[in-house]
Amino acid sequence: MPTFVAGRYFSNQLEKLIIFSAPSGSGKTTVVKHLLEVMSNQLAFSVSATTRSPRPGELDGREYHFLSLDDFNQNVADNQFLEHEEVYAGILYGTLWSEVKKIWAEGKAVVFDVDVKGGLNLKRKFGDQALAVFLRPPSVDVLMERLTKRSTEVEHQLQERIAKANYELSFESQYDTVVVNDILEETFATCEKLVSDFIQN
Ligand code: ADP
Ligand code: 5GP
Repeated sequence: MPTFVAGRYFSNQLEKLIIFSAPSGSGKTTVVKHLLEVMSNQLAFSVSATTRSPRPGELDGREYHFLSLDDFNQNVADNQFLEHEEVYAGILYGTLWSEVKKIWAEGKAVVFDVDVKGGLNLKRKFGDQALAVFLRPPSVDVLMERLTKRSTEVEHQLQERIAKANYELSFESQYDTVVVNDILEETFATCEKLVSDFIQN
């Protein structure tokens, strides 16, 4: 069973976590997907639970465990989440302990794509076992452009995500490291190096 003392988790130092947080549209999904492809023997993705609907192409159990609000709340009541947040109004997201334990049992480090508060909660719980990376867009204008082009949100959701971006950007100094996602190939190389240095030490 996991051991928490004063809210911090103590375990085998080989059990590592890599957290990516950033405003929506910064490129987390793109970067995490790349790392999972090129470092598939060392990393695996923690599939979160959410109450939002799947986007076209998303599969239950792959991008997310898509849950009803009742099922999500039942998991909260059963202490199944390491952390959970209402990231957008009425839309809940949470990290499942079962995902993390499964990945560690495979001898891999766990990669998370979580919001800024969830990321910092995980960092607080796991301390040096976790590398918390803040992925920043070159500017809010570029972020808006990327989100608009992605075309996955209806207008009011898009506005909500853009409105939240400045708030989220204010958290970057609390992260272990900040990577500006401008030229994608450079971001990939920087993140690959950060992650391999972290899991080798
Ligand atoms: P997030 O997961 O943070 O919401 P995504 O990975 O979905 O962000 O990226 C948002 C959009 O921006 C996607 O359409 C993606 O292809 C694009 N994108 C990501 N990184 C870059 C980059 N460095 N340059 C240009 N477009 C990018
Ligand atoms: P999206 O709906 O675009 O997939 O994700 C929206 C936001 O929710 C992103 O910032 C993403 O990182 C965050 N998110 C995804 N899973 C989790 C989770 O388990 N916990 C928290 N706190 N945030 C999450």
